[in-house]
Amino acid sequence: TIRTRYAPSPTGHLHIGGARTALFSYLWARKNGGSFAVRIEDTDVERNVVDAEKKQLAGLKWLGIDWDESVDIGGPYAPYRSMERVDIYQKYVEQLLEAGQAYRCYATPEELEAEREEQLARGEAPKYSGKYRDLTLEQEEALKAQGRVASIRFRVPEGQTITVKDVVRGTVSFDSDGIGDFIIVRPDGRPTYNFAVVVDDALMKFTHVVRGEEHMSNTPRQVLVYEALGFPVPVFAHASLILNPEGKKMSKRDESIIQFIDQYRDLGYLPEAVINFLVLLGWAPEGEEKERELFTKEELIARFSLERVSKAPAVFDPGKLKWMNNHYIKESSVERIADLAWPHLERAGRVSADPDEQERQWVTRLVGLYQEQLDYVAQIVDLTTLFFHTEVEYSEEAREVLKGEQVPQVLAAFMAELEKSEDSHVSADEVKGMLKTVQKATGHKGKQLFMPVRAAVTGQTHGPDLRETISLLGTETVISRLRHFLD
Ligand code: GLU
Repeated sequence: TIRTRYAPSPTGHLHIGGARTALFSYLWARKNGGSFAVRIEDTDVERNVVDAEKKQLAGLKWLGIDWDESVDIGGPYAPYRSMERVDIYQKYVEQLLEAGQAYRCYATPEELEAEREEQLARGEAPKYSGKYRDLTLEQEEALKAQGRVASIRFRVPEGQTITVKDVVRGTVSFDSDGIGDFIIVRPDGRPTYNFAVVVDDALMKFTHVVRGEEHMSNTPRQVLVYEALGFPVPVFAHASLILNPEGKKMSKRDESIIQFIDQYRDLGYLPEAVINFLVLLGWAPEGEEKERELFTKEELIARFSLERVSKAPAVFDPGKLKWMNNHYIKESSVERIADLAWPHLERAGRVSADPDEQERQWVTRLVGLYQEQLDYVAQIVDLTTLFFHTEVEYSEEAREVLKGEQVPQVLAAFMAELEKSEDSHVSADEVKGMLKTVQKATGHKGKQLFMPVRAAVTGQTHGPDLRETISLLGTETVISRLRHFLD
């Protein structure tokens, strides 16, 4: 059976790149009826951030990427946190030491730095020289007596071609002479990523390792460790880089796009839009569906394949994500969007934290009025300003419209109709009836009638349904805005 994993280091929030990796890995497992695990790679302790693990899991959960094994629910190959597996690695370290495939290196940081500088000065690519490769027992004893603490390095074989088989990239070859003996255990006993990842992926029986292109250069090292330990090598799939809208490599500080999943969640992007967008960063459907862009998660599970993941870099287009999100917002129930809108409106001081039924209904209708226009739900605050301020700001176009000769007559007639009503909020149908009456009484219709009313009441010449807008604004507000033009 197919087993895949997402293996974040707990260094921060779930990033769009990590989310895409997790998604590809997840879809491949689900497509094949296999298992998907989340393993936390926390051996780089200086880089670990408190709560990052929780945030990673929360981000995945929000996206709808569920896992079968992880730190929270355990699983057949627990523990799923590298630092809790240190004893497990120990056994394999000893195996390599005994076989002479690993050795203790006593180099000090100063020594390594000096070596590096000499190599750079000679115009060579820096690489550990192998200085402590073949120590005699006496030499080792002498170094220990000096108080030196060893790290353990993997002995990279000389003059070999290492081949990496990658579903996305095909067979990629590396010259082992370009790879220095690398550290597998640090002086304090902690394993390094390149070693721990192999032991974990092998013991956890993952069949596929899906991750980002930035790990491609680690892969030949890992293949050497698999081979040295006699483990079967999994199938690799290195997804391409994600480029920013300018087509440049993204850095974490790049402000041209929003980079973290929880930021999208907080702005009111829908998870189904985000995964739909992410999957197309490097994957494309097949055949007749080649141009199709909208897919539900279930449709993706049915269609996804690693063979169709592209090695060409993917450009992140925020406009496309907005378009997709708008599509999914339009497809959602108004209640769902109103629930998502609530915290935004509440933070803007426009709705209460503990609403009664009437307020709830009013907000739901208000959100319904703008649902079609929303690229993301947080926009509701700016779009609905005119419902919450007594003073309206009039656009240039609205002022122009309100200069019309027929305007005082139309507005006065409409105000007179509204004043007849006792309701604080007349219904949209009643508004329709009133406008009909005004039309008959004044002889003005169409634009001549609706534009001045819209302009006077909303300050704008465009907007959603006028009758519903008037109904939601309420009789008192509308009358006071009309009066403003009549006095
Ligand atoms: N812990 C690595 C990272 O966060 C993932 C490595 C892997 O998937 O092998 O980049």
